[in-house]
Amino acid sequence: MSQIETRQLIGSGLKQRTEEALADDFLRKAVAFTTDKLKTGKLKATDDFGDWEQWRERGRLIRTHVIDNLDYYLTQFTDNVSKAGGHVYFCCTADEAVKTFMELAEKRKAKLVAKGKSMVSEEIHLNHHLEDHGIEAIETDLGEYILQLAKETPSHLIIPAIHKNKQQIADLFNEESGESFPPETRVLADFARQKLRNYFLEADIGLTGCNFGVAESGSITLVSNEGNGRMVSTIPKSHVVIMGMERLVPTFDDLEVVLNLLARSATGQKLTTYTSMITGPRREGELDGPEELHLIVLDNGRSEQLGDPVFQEVLNCIRCAACLNVCPVYRHVGGHTYGSVYSGPIGAVLTPLLQQDMKEAGELAYASSLCGACYEACPVKIPLHDMLVQLRNRKVKMGLTPFAERTAFKTFQTVFGNVKLYKVAMNSAYYLQKPFISKGFIKKGPGPMSGWTQSRFFPMKPKESFRDKWNKLQQEMKSSAGSSAAPSVTSSADSKKRGEHHDH
Ligand code: SF4
Repeated sequence: MSQIETRQLIGSGLKQRTEEALADDFLRKAVAFTTDKLKTGKLKATDDFGDWEQWRERGRLIRTHVIDNLDYYLTQFTDNVSKAGGHVYFCCTADEAVKTFMELAEKRKAKLVAKGKSMVSEEIHLNHHLEDHGIEAIETDLGEYILQLAKETPSHLIIPAIHKNKQQIADLFNEESGESFPPETRVLADFARQKLRNYFLEADIGLTGCNFGVAESGSITLVSNEGNGRMVSTIPKSHVVIMGMERLVPTFDDLEVVLNLLARSATGQKLTTYTSMITGPRREGELDGPEELHLIVLDNGRSEQLGDPVFQEVLNCIRCAACLNVCPVYRHVGGHTYGSVYSGPIGAVLTPLLQQDMKEAGELAYASSLCGACYEACPVKIPLHDMLVQLRNRKVKMGLTPFAERTAFKTFQTVFGNVKLYKVAMNSAYYLQKPFISKGFIKKGPGPMSGWTQSRFFPMKPKESFRDKWNKLQQEMKSSAGSSAAPSVTSSADSKKRGEHHDH
């Protein structure tokens, strides 16, 4: 798939992308298999950890406190980055962040950028811009490297190539190298290791994201399981960090909590294999580290959520992907269906908010069964299912839902708000359904119902409703009670009111 095709995939509609994903048996099995493993690993790691609910609550409190006081912690953090010798740039938009990076690259006459995993750099489509300016950007995270060769975007927050198998990876590596590697993990990993090693040594700039910034010290925390983050941030002369403005914790004590929550929720590990804390560039007398450190702090729609009673909490996210692994929708369609770098339930909330686009990105609010599994899995207790309902509500209020849907719900509201109309509608439904009934079921529904009946039968509406049956039963009970003269609760109360007494 070419770069252009990848961009088009992002632009195609949600329905079309969903249909494509559902038709891809391999993708569905691969995503379900890996997310199952991650889910099981997480449960074990959290069980071993004692009272997980208390840890979750502590994580929620830390993140909520930071976001409530983001101006304070952002100032403290960036002041400390500057004190440690780093340079800080605040960027309101994706374009500003790209421009800032380009200026840094041009000043250093950079030809090669070695990248650690960074979802924010994906968010601003930095690779496309670097390519357009003749700068080679190499992804050094194995999953991201595979996707770069495949010219695809990540389909999972922490396992970007979750939808690829070993054979597909071997094919990509063979095409890249002209070799014929067998589809064996060790062989493929060895090839990537050798290949990427040279890039670390030759890169003019090392680019990383930032998992957490520690405000009290100005430290940038990076977690990785491959060690590439450490290479990218120490070998090239310049280290550029791009971080979302909300990724802060106040202190190292708080960092301990969120690192535990992140590793256990993401991969079921007690701690991610490599955890680096970088405070400024290399100091005099130190043996390694970059000569200069630049920090780009990106807003890009985040500050719009501050103060919002419903959506501010989405900024608490620590990007662990636990909500993706349990989501029945994500598990069936994978990440590309969401058409955004952020997929799954968090992507369905974050994408329309960051892009401030309720028309197209707002469609993602419907990519959910609202089962609440995402909330249960979230280590910082973000009520994503409630937010999805609120996003749907926002779309309706903005008049962005289709005319047919608006009319259907208006009719529904009128009928269900009026007893007489409701009764007429229910009685008519019995007769209207008749042409579609087969053995007690509607197997091929008309109009919008056809989607439902494509994969399951719809039970026919019985002639007599439950309400009618219930009323009839009540009547029968009353008349039989009257004939045998047995006291009922009501008759006894009535009697008391009238001052009558029964001898028992
Ligand atoms: S919303 Fe919660 S579960 Fe989902 S990625 Fe963010 S922190 Fe993890």
